[in-house]
Amino acid sequence: MSILTIFAKRFITGETLDSAIEAIKRLNAQKMTATLDMLGENVTNKEMAIKTADCYLEMLDAIAKHGVNSNVSIKLTQMGLDISDEFCYDNVSRILDKAAAVKNFVRVDMEGSPYTERTLQLVYKWHEKYPNVGTVIQAALRRSEKDIAELNRRKITVRLCKGAYKEPKEVAFQLKTEVNANYIKLADMLFKDGVYPAIATHDIKMIEAALESAKKYGRTRDDFEFQMLYGINRSGQRKIAEQGYRMRIYTPWGTHWFPYYYRRLRERKENIFFIFRHLFD
Ligand SMILES: Cc1cc2nc3c(=O)[nH]c(=O)nc-3n(C[C@H](O)[C@H](O)[C@H](O)COP(=O)(O)OP(=O)(O)OC[C@H]3O[C@@H](n4cnc5c(N)ncnc54)[C@H](O)[C@@H]3O)c2cc1C
Repeated sequence: MSILTIFAKRFITGETLDSAIEAIKRLNAQKMTATLDMLGENVTNKEMAIKTADCYLEMLDAIAKHGVNSNVSIKLTQMGLDISDEFCYDNVSRILDKAAAVKNFVRVDMEGSPYTERTLQLVYKWHEKYPNVGTVIQAALRRSEKDIAELNRRKITVRLCKGAYKEPKEVAFQLKTEVNANYIKLADMLFKDGVYPAIATHDIKMIEAALESAKKYGRTRDDFEFQMLYGINRSGQRKIAEQGYRMRIYTPWGTHWFPYYYRRLRERKENIFFIFRHLFD
C-alpha cells in the first residue's frame, strides 16, 4: 500500500467492494444511509466502460444481498460519455434496469461544466423510462437556476452541491459569497417545488438555510435529506442524524482514487498541511 493510499483512506473506504459494504453497515448502525460510488472517471474505451457498468450491477446485488441501506452514484464519463451519448445511454440503462429490479435508485453525479448539458439531456431521457434516477446541480454554475426549474417541472429529484470543479468565470461564480447566496436560493426552489431535495454540504450556514426553507414550505423530515462525504465532519454527520434528520453519506471505494482525493484536498488547505505534516513526520 502506497503512502498516498494510506492518506486517501480518510475519504475512501478502501480498494474493495467489501470494504465499502462494511463501511455502510457501520453508517447504517448509526442511523445514516449511504450512496455507494466506485471511483473512476473519463473512461475512453468501450470495454472499460462496460466493465465499470458491470461492476455497478455487482454493487447493486451486493447492497441487496447484505440488506444495507444504500443507493448508488455514478459518473457519466465513467460510463462512456466521452465515447458517445448513445453508447453511454445504453450502458447506464443496464444499471437502471438492475436498480429497478432490486428497487433501488441511481444518482447521476455532475462533473465539469463541459458535460453539464449532455448529462442533463441524458437524465431527462432516462427519467422518461426510469423514475428511479436523479441528478446533481452545482450552485457554482450560473445556469443552475434555470436547470433546477426544469428538473422541478419534470419531477426529477436533485442533489444540490456547491460544485467541486474549477470553472471559468463565464460559466461559474468565482466568489464563495456568490456561490453560497446561489446555494441558498436554489435550495429554496427545491424545497418549494422539487421532489425529495438532497442537500449536500458540510457548511452549517447552508444547512441552517435549508432547514428554514423546509419549515417555510412545510416539508416533513422524511421529505428531504442531507448528504455529506465519507470522512468529512463525522461528528456533525452523526449529530444531524441523531436529531432525526435523514443523513446520507457519499461512500467511495476503488483503486482510481486520485482525482477524487485531489478535489477533497483542494477544497480545504488544512488537508494539504495535514499531508505535509505527516510526510515530514
Ligand atoms: C454528498 C455529496 C455529493 C457531492 N456530489 C458532487 C457532484 O456530483 N458534483 C460536484 O461537482 N460536487 C459534488 N460534491 C462536492 C461539493 O460540490 C463540494 O465541493 C464539497 O461538498 C465542499 O463544499 P461544502 O458544501 O461542504 O462547502 P465548503 O464551503 O467547501 O465547506 C464548508 C466546510 O465543510 C468542511 N469541508 C468541506 N470540504 C472539506 C474537505 N474536503 N475536507 C475537510 N473538510 C471539508 C470545512 O469545515 C469547511 O469549512 C458533493 C458533495 C457532497 C457532500
